[in-house]
This record gives sequence, C-alpha cells and structure tokens, in this order.
Amino acid sequence: MAHIIEEAKSGRAGCRTCRKPIAKGELRFGEEVENQFADGGETTYRWHHLACAAGAKTDELRATLAAHEGAPPVPDAQRAELERLMAEADAKKPPPYPHADKAPSGRAKCQGCGETIAKGELRVAYERDIERGMTVMKGAGYLHPKCAAAHFEENGGTHAELTEALRTNTRDLSEQEMERLFSEV
Ligand SMILES: [Zn+2]
Ligand SMILES: [Zn+2]
Repeated sequence: MAHIIEEAKSGRAGCRTCRKPIAKGELRFGEEVENQFADGGETTYRWHHLACAAGAKTDELRATLAAHEGAPPVPDAQRAELERLMAEADAKKPPPYPHADKAPSGRAKCQGCGETIAKGELRVAYERDIERGMTVMKGAGYLHPKCAAAHFEENGGTHAELTEALRTNTRDLSEQEMERLFSEV
C-alpha cells in the first residue's frame, strides 16, 4: 500500500479522523485502502488532515513523510509540529514487548516461578499465548526479572536478546531502577 501526501484537489473530502472538512489546497494524508465496492485490485484513499494523521496513523504518516521527502514539500514549521505530534502519539502507545515496568498491583503471578509479583516490584512484561477454551489469544505475561532469562531461554530466546529488548522497549524506569533490573535479569 502506498499512502500519499498531496494538496487537496477540492474542499469536499472530509477527514476520517476528526470528520471535519479538509480545505482545498491544504496538504492532506491519503491512506490507501482496498476499495470494498470494487471487484479486486482497486484501491481508494481515506483522507486525513496531516495533524490528525500524526495521532491516528502515526506509523503510516512517518513512513510516508520519509518516502516523500520533498514532494510536495511540507513546510518546515508544519513538519516540526507533525514530528512533535507523532512523538506524543508514540509516548501514549504501550511499549512493545518485552519491556520492564513496576507492578501496579500485587495480583499478577510470575509465569516462571508461580509466585506473586509484589506491588511496586520490577517485572518483565512479555507477550504470551493465553488459551481461552478453544481459542488462543495474545496477552501479557509477567516475570520476576530473576526468572525472566530462564523463561526466555526455554522459549528459544537468548539472554542477550532479552536484555537488548528490555533496554530498547522499557520506558518510565529511572536509571537506578534500570541498573537494578539488569543486575537481576
Ligand atoms: Zn482531521
Ligand atoms: Zn518468578
């Protein structure tokens, strides 16, 4: 799918994020989607204000801005504002797995040793398959930092991969907490 940025050719298309019209001549983001009403192969665009796309279609807009370098030019001030909005949207998204955080409650059990993870304790969150009757869903599993490496190695990961991922994905832990984390993992 090739998304585009272009000047609105008319003022008729509404923004799919905020539902307000996009003014003629204003730069807009076109999200390429399959046309459900065509027999196949055909695509159509869903239009968004650039600022709306920064929040709602962050990854798509970022890739399109990178691929579009210059054509048509997004003015520097607007570009800077979009970068700010995209960074804001990134910060709101949950960090990718695995990452470390502090247990907000004392309810979760460690998937390694089976013991409860105390409230406020450092923990490693990872994505695991959860069986619900006949279906398998993706959900979060939690581990004590000291139980994490063994669990990852059992599942084909390496200690280095785990620490690398934790370093990249973890937000909201202080430097001291990060140090403690890596002394235990
Ligand atoms: Zn909008
Ligand atoms: Zn444990």
